[in-house]
Amino acid sequence: MKKSSTHNSQVAIVGGGMVGAASACGLADLGLDVTLIEHNRPDFDWPQDEIDLRVSAINKASQHLLGNLGAWQLIDDRDAVAYREMRVWDSLSSEIHFDSADIGEPDLGHILQNRVIQRALWQAMEKRPGITVLSPCSVTDLQPSPEKITLQLDDDASLESELLVAADGARSRMRDELGIGFSEFDFQQTAVVTTVRLAQGHAETAWQRFLPEGPLAFLPISTDQCSIVWSTTADIAEKLVEMDDAAFCVALNEAVEGRLGEITETSQRARYPLRSIHAESYISSHAALVGDAAHQIHPLAGQGVNLGFRDAGALIDTVASQLERGRPISNEQGLRAYERTRRGDNLLMQKSMEGFNHLFSNDNSLLKLFRNGGQAATQRLPLIKEGFMQHALGTSGEIPSLCKKAM
Ligand SMILES: Cc1cc2nc3c(=O)[nH]c(=O)nc-3n(C[C@H](O)[C@H](O)[C@H](O)COP(=O)(O)OP(=O)(O)OC[C@H]3O[C@@H](n4cnc5c(N)ncnc54)[C@H](O)[C@@H]3O)c2cc1C
Repeated sequence: MKKSSTHNSQVAIVGGGMVGAASACGLADLGLDVTLIEHNRPDFDWPQDEIDLRVSAINKASQHLLGNLGAWQLIDDRDAVAYREMRVWDSLSSEIHFDSADIGEPDLGHILQNRVIQRALWQAMEKRPGITVLSPCSVTDLQPSPEKITLQLDDDASLESELLVAADGARSRMRDELGIGFSEFDFQQTAVVTTVRLAQGHAETAWQRFLPEGPLAFLPISTDQCSIVWSTTADIAEKLVEMDDAAFCVALNEAVEGRLGEITETSQRARYPLRSIHAESYISSHAALVGDAAHQIHPLAGQGVNLGFRDAGALIDTVASQLERGRPISNEQGLRAYERTRRGDNLLMQKSMEGFNHLFSNDNSLLKLFRNGGQAATQRLPLIKEGFMQHALGTSGEIPSLCKKAM
C-alpha cells in the first residue's frame, strides 16, 4: 500500500497466527474481500527434521476445519502425528486411560508444530485471490464510526473496513484499542517446553502426569520424539531450564516414574509463565475478538487453539447468515449471536482447566480423596469416559459448520 493512502476491505483481520489465518480463509470463501495484517512475517523455511518448541494437540473438530479450508491437505503426513491413546495419572498413581478404539475413532487427535499449521494456512490464503496479506505491518490506531472501522497502519496508510477481526493473541492491542477489558488469573506456574527422544518410543500415546506443582505432558511429535510441556513453579522451572541436558533427562525420567523408558536426548528448553485471561466482551462496534485475543487458558488439556478455531468457525457461520439475510456483515445482532455461541463454551473449558489444575496439582489430603473417587468413577463408567472423549475431540456441543466432517 502507498504511504498516506486509504484503502477499503470488507474485512480486516489483525494477526496472522493460526486463528487469524483460518478466519481469513473462511471469510474469503464467503466471497468477501479480506485484508490480513501481521507484524512478524513468518519464516516458513526450516530443516525437515528440526522440531520447534511450540506445538499443539489438534482435535477432530479442528482437523475438520483445517480440511474444509484446504489446509490439512497441505500438511505432510510426517508432520501430523496421531495419538491413539491417552494416559493420565497423578502423584498417587491412580490412572485414567482413554483409547480411541472405545469410541470407534482411529485416533484421539494429532500433534503438530504450530508453524506447520500456520504455514499450511498461509499457503491456503495464497490460493484465495480475495485475500490481501500485509506483512510485516502493524496497526497503530483504530477509529470506529457508525458505518465502518478505520485502521491506521504503521506505513502511514489506512484501511477502512466493515468488520475488524482481532486475532492478535493474548496480549491483543486491538482489544485494548477497542476499550475491551479482561479478567486475568495467574496460575503461579511456568511451563517448561522442550523436545525429547525416547529409546522405546511413545506407543502412539499422549502421557500426562499431575505432580503437586503442576501437570507434565509428553506429546508424540515424531516416531520416537515427544514434545514436553512441564508446568511447575517458577523456581523449579528456572532450574530445569538451566541444568545440563543429562541432568534434565534424569529429572524428567524421575518425574514420569520411568514409565516411558530411557530419555536419550533433549533439545533446548524455553519457559512460558502461565495465566488465563478472558475478555469482558468478544465484540464491539464493527469488531469481533477470536482466539487468544478473546481467551487464554491453561495448556494442560491442549485446547487453546482448538477453542480459537471454533471461534473462527462460529464467526464465519454468523457472517454467512448475515449475508444470506442481506444484512451488513457487522450487524450488531449477528455479532451478539457470535458472542453468545462462543463465550459459554470457552468459559466452561477455561474454568474446567483451572479446576483440574487446582484439584490435581495439589497435595491437600481432602482434595486427594475427592479426586481419587472421581478418577476411579471416570475410569470405571464408560459413559462418563465417552463424554470426556467427545468433549476433547470437539465433537460435542454447538459445532460450527467448518468444524464438521465434510460430506
Ligand atoms: C506451552 C503451551 C502449550 C500449548 N499447547 C497447546 C495444545 O496442545 N493445543 C492447543 O489447542 N493449544 C495449545 N496452546 C495454546 C495455543 O498455542 C494458543 O491458543 C494459540 O497459539 C493461539 O493462536 P492465535 O492465533 O489466537 O494467537 P497467536 O498465536 O498469539 O497469534 C497472534 C498473531 O498476531 C500477531 N500480532 C500481534 N499483535 C499484532 C499487531 N498489533 N499487528 C499485527 N499483528 C499482530 C502476532 O505476531 C501473531 O502472529 C499452548 C500454549 C502454550 C503456551
